[in-house]
Amino acid sequence: MSFRLANWAEQAVLLDGDDYWALGIDPMDALTRLDEIHRSWDGRGAPDGQLSAADLGPPVPHPKQVFGYGLNYRDHVEEMDEVDYLGRTTNEAPVVFTKYPSCLVGPAAPVALVGDQCDYECELVAVIGTESRHVDQAHAWDRVAGLMIGQDISDRALQVEATPPQFNLGKSRESFGPTGPALVSPDMVANPDDLAISCRINGELRQDSRTSFLMRPVAEMVAYLSSILTLHPGDLIFTGTPGGVGHAQGIYLQPGDVIRSEIEGLGALENTCI
Ligand code: ZN
Repeated sequence: MSFRLANWAEQAVLLDGDDYWALGIDPMDALTRLDEIHRSWDGRGAPDGQLSAADLGPPVPHPKQVFGYGLNYRDHVEEMDEVDYLGRTTNEAPVVFTKYPSCLVGPAAPVALVGDQCDYECELVAVIGTESRHVDQAHAWDRVAGLMIGQDISDRALQVEATPPQFNLGKSRESFGPTGPALVSPDMVANPDDLAISCRINGELRQDSRTSFLMRPVAEMVAYLSSILTLHPGDLIFTGTPGGVGHAQGIYLQPGDVIRSEIEGLGALENTCI
């Protein structure tokens, strides 16, 4: 079932390059009608027009739940351990936090910085397609509707302001969740468990890795979360960021900075800081 599903003015559209086909339904409803959408794709006519990333909103604008996995690439665990002693071993329980859905914005939306310690985290985002409870790893990919790129923008100061630290608010300021450009079905990428992922700030390469380095891969995350609660269609899992974040280097985002986030087969986000 192949598709690139996007959100244009709260309407679901299918994309092929810049061409779009309007589905006439809400993007959240589209997630529960993927079989039907796939069938209509096979018989599609001429496109309705063309769209650029600037026209698009977040592919999944109103998820019920948004999960973030922290410290899920070894090189990121090591770099954070050097600046903020974590004393973490890789066998410990996963670090999972919430990004509140209100922080989600589109692939070309501006990011509104607050304070002087805002940071970038380029991430693969898995989107749940089927209500799921107690799913085993072998069947977890069947529950994933598709993949997209996400920026887990983080206010590092707010993240550690309280004792013990609580990540949720520092990762949920307005506009701190750029996603997109489209929700891409897993069969449209060569290997959904091994995709090149990178982030550039003003053209300078800061993060450069592969999703095969995820310590807990997508199937394991879906299985773990579904062992605790019910996952719903449209729920997002931000899967963690590779090494190279600004915090580890003592450099933070500044107004005017352009964050370019790319994942193989999924396209790119380009967000300007204001
Ligand atoms: Zn993150």
